[in-house]
Amino acid sequence: MVTSTKNSTTRGGEFLIRETSAQNVFIPEEWNEEQRMIEKTCYDFVEKEIWPRLDEIDSMKDPALMPALLDKAGELGLLGTSVPPELGGFGMSFNTTMLVAEALGASYSFAVAYGAHTGIGTLPILYFGTEEQKKKYVPKLATGEWKACYCLTEPDSGSDANSGKTKATLTADGKHYDINGQKMWITNGGFADVMIVFAKIDNDKNLTAFIVERSFGGITMNPEERKMGIKGSSTRQIFFNDCKVPVENMLSERENGFKIAVNVLNIGRIKLGAGAVGGAKMALRTAVGYSKERKQFGQSIAEFGAIKYKIAEVATRIFASESAHYRAGQNIDDWYDKLVAEGMESGAARLKSLEEYAIECAILKVHGSEILDYSVDEGVQIYGGMGYSAEGPMDRAYRDARINRIFEGTNEINRLLTIDMLLKRAMKGTLDLMTPAMEVQKELMSIPDFGSGESEGLFAAEKKALLNLKKAGLMVAGAAVQKFMMKLSDEQEIIMNMADMLIEGYVAESALLRVEKLISQRGEQACEIEKAMALITLHEAMQKAAAAGREAITSFATGDEMRMMLLGLKRFTKIEPVNLKESRRKVADAILAKGGL
Ligand SMILES: Cc1cc2nc3c(=O)[nH]c(=O)nc-3n(C[C@H](O)[C@H](O)[C@H](O)COP(=O)(O)OP(=O)(O)OC[C@H]3O[C@@H](n4cnc5c(N)ncnc54)[C@H](O)[C@@H]3O)c2cc1C
Repeated sequence: MVTSTKNSTTRGGEFLIRETSAQNVFIPEEWNEEQRMIEKTCYDFVEKEIWPRLDEIDSMKDPALMPALLDKAGELGLLGTSVPPELGGFGMSFNTTMLVAEALGASYSFAVAYGAHTGIGTLPILYFGTEEQKKKYVPKLATGEWKACYCLTEPDSGSDANSGKTKATLTADGKHYDINGQKMWITNGGFADVMIVFAKIDNDKNLTAFIVERSFGGITMNPEERKMGIKGSSTRQIFFNDCKVPVENMLSERENGFKIAVNVLNIGRIKLGAGAVGGAKMALRTAVGYSKERKQFGQSIAEFGAIKYKIAEVATRIFASESAHYRAGQNIDDWYDKLVAEGMESGAARLKSLEEYAIECAILKVHGSEILDYSVDEGVQIYGGMGYSAEGPMDRAYRDARINRIFEGTNEINRLLTIDMLLKRAMKGTLDLMTPAMEVQKELMSIPDFGSGESEGLFAAEKKALLNLKKAGLMVAGAAVQKFMMKLSDEQEIIMNMADMLIEGYVAESALLRVEKLISQRGEQACEIEKAMALITLHEAMQKAAAAGREAITSFATGDEMRMMLLGLKRFTKIEPVNLKESRRKVADAILAKGGL
């Protein structure tokens, strides 16, 4: 059985087998004044420095423009949000840095340059560097005096990142490593002073990371890549030809590079998701504004039910994704506090807390990037012909959004990872999936318990539905594992179905918990719209989980077993019908009145 133990320290991935108390989740309505001020600083920066120059930035005519904009962000302290004060930063909580990522998410190419510099460029040194390395590099990166990039991908090594061919060879005097090889798709490559470069020493199986300064020499690059979107973000192929790197610039230990890459990507993923939420909110605001102005058939298009549907759907998906992002962000902060209280060093605790919630980070990368694509796509549609015009605002939003499903691990890789990590934790015994999965199997044989609604209290029926959704996921996962054992990894289609069920469950639960907590603070009447959004999310999650579960079951089960599982799935994804059209109308009208979320 999925347990209903309520515990404030729900571990990573445990949401699947444990009920979370609404009082233990952080909700965005709880940002304090200081956090709101930081958010406003970001919005003001974007409005003043970025939006008036979007064409100029994307033209790349002035290669000094993007570094200059990063400098300006540095002057405002925005490059040092994750960096502790002793290294020249602000040491903000992880969730506050997520809020910064969200607020800068509407800055198009700048958001990518910013993310690469402050995230994958700076954090490897901050979390894996020696004291000397940290002191030498981090303060300069935190102010923007030096800019950073991250060189992992190669022409033949993308998703399979550990297969890179770039070599590092110790020089005869033992003082340097000679780096030789080619990196590809390197964000900020055109202007970075500091590069985190992954290479293999001799015939090592695993990568080693190095801090490389452009001034070391032996570095050349191709011209800027011509891209579909984020055209103002520098993306280069970089060639290392006997680039001499002092031995003391090895980051962490030999062959520890892949671990660094994975850990840093955990952070990048959830922050990419938060940035996507910010981008999606802007697309919604823009489309809402247009829908009110544009008149057809004698009325504004916002008055048409088909357009209201789009506005409500986009708003609802953003609301749900936002709920999940900051729930996970707070979990990461809480876990960090717990580890520090137990005596762990701050940097190590940051990494451990992100590793703990790596499943959630992967889920949110996928969800955030997909709701962003949905939002900009519907944005184009709401604009009609003007949506397709290169003169209109949706053109850039649509093209720039697309990259998010590709970098920081493609969404396929992240879907695979969520299930892989869950199953590994189950095998290691850190997450007891087997007991609840077996109980669900037993329940399948029992007399069906249709008829929900007998429970009491706020969202009692919805919580039961969520519990059942989790059971559906456990049923499919348990049966697939039993069927394929170690060969499950060959059945990627089924893993994708399983991942979708997991993602839907996590996000729907997050939205419901947010609204439950909000109602406890403000009363039900004041939260009508939020409640409608949470219920729409839950209903859609049940439908999507039913479809994904059905596909999975029919892929591997036959005969009586298939029939029994399909019946179980029907039972576990059953939810009392509600008038979704009315709910969406209510949401759309509120969003139209407010101008956005
Ligand atoms: C604009 C841009 C900026 C970037 N910035 C950086 C950067 O700063 N630093 C850096 O190191 N890299 C960067 N990248 C690289 C990026 O991380 C990779 O493009 C990405 O990881 C995918 O690798 P790939 O392009 O080689 O695609 P591939 O790995 O060849 O994937 C192609 C397709 O196959 C799928 N696929 C691959 N393997 C599997 C599998 N095992 N199972 C199922 N499906 C699979 C993928 O999901 C994808 O759909 C950037 C890329 C772009 C486009």
